[in-house]
Amino acid sequence: MPKVVVLPGDGIGKEIIPEAVKVLQAVLGNNNNFEFEEYLIGGSAIDEVGTALPAETLEACKSADAVLLGAIGGPKWDNLPAQQRPELGALLPLRKELNLYANIRPVKAIPALISASTLKEEVIKNVDLVVIRELTGGLYFGEKGRKKDPESAYDLLVYTEDEIRRIVELAFQTALTRRKKLCSVDKANVLESSRFWREITNDIAKKYSEVELTHMYVDNAAMQLVRYPKQFDVIVTENMFGDILTDLASMLGGSIGMLASASLSGRKGLYEPAHGSAPDIAGQNKANPLAMILSTAMMLRYSFDLHTKASKIENAVAKVLEQGYRTADIAEVGGKLLGTREMGDAVVEAL
Ligand code: NAD
Repeated sequence: MPKVVVLPGDGIGKEIIPEAVKVLQAVLGNNNNFEFEEYLIGGSAIDEVGTALPAETLEACKSADAVLLGAIGGPKWDNLPAQQRPELGALLPLRKELNLYANIRPVKAIPALISASTLKEEVIKNVDLVVIRELTGGLYFGEKGRKKDPESAYDLLVYTEDEIRRIVELAFQTALTRRKKLCSVDKANVLESSRFWREITNDIAKKYSEVELTHMYVDNAAMQLVRYPKQFDVIVTENMFGDILTDLASMLGGSIGMLASASLSGRKGLYEPAHGSAPDIAGQNKANPLAMILSTAMMLRYSFDLHTKASKIENAVAKVLEQGYRTADIAEVGGKLLGTREMGDAVVEAL
């Protein structure tokens, strides 16, 4: 029986997860044998059991086929010591424990939403790219600390050859299934870790002669993503560069509330929206649930090979947007403004 662990987390995570599960149940049908189990994580887990990643939650995630995560964190827990906070205490260890080394974020300009973007229509029309971000190495996982004399702080950026090989291989494989263009983003003019990354990428490229490989410095990549995003097909990059570039790229799709993501280790995956817990709008039925709903489509595709059902969800989302339905973050003058729950209902209706 396919087992899915559901982790609502904090803030709007608690509002978007029920909508995603509702859509999933609708697409899977009444007689499906999926088992959904809900567990605590993040600030909510700190409040209830004193730790951001309870052992029970971690065990359940390890034995599941897939994990759906809403979002975690918020100002209430910001003053806790770093390792106890939701992000460092739960999200990063969960990625590490499940060995989720590849974060995949597709960015597609949805025709009905082009006018919601702050970028010009001619720039984002027909954008269709995927960012593949390394997720368990680099600065976020390197040794970190404080020193005295002089008072200072440090975070180490370390990548092993194996860590680079597995993510770059995945990127080449992904490029093969698409327009066969791969751009590896680094900072090889300054960072030794980037020079190492580039050497290994060039070595792997020898096996993939059909794929056109380019290298780009991360500062230029940020500029090019806004200047002429259509030049990109697949982008592969290390953890922190990917973190920043994917938020930037989210605007190419209209709103961060639209950007889904999959974090994979083979077929097993954790699926979550790219955005955070949005404390500014939490509890107000204002959050856009579509990134979470699109993340469930990625789950059906990557963890369960249910491609037709995944496409059904994606088409239902596109249909709802074409019908003019909008949550506040993507609203336009004259659009039909819906709350979180109503948007979930609209997607189910469209299915
Ligand atoms: P955020 O993504 O939560 O919010 C940024 C802005 O985007 C806010 O104005 C918010 O209202 C808006 N927004 C985000 N998602 C939206 C949605 N679905 N619908 C409508 N509007 C949406 O980022 P932040 O404010 O920098 O972080 C808030 C908290 O979330 C912090 O504690 C942060 O650490 C955490 N965070 C968690 C994750 C995660 O769980 N994976 C990721 C990023 C940030």
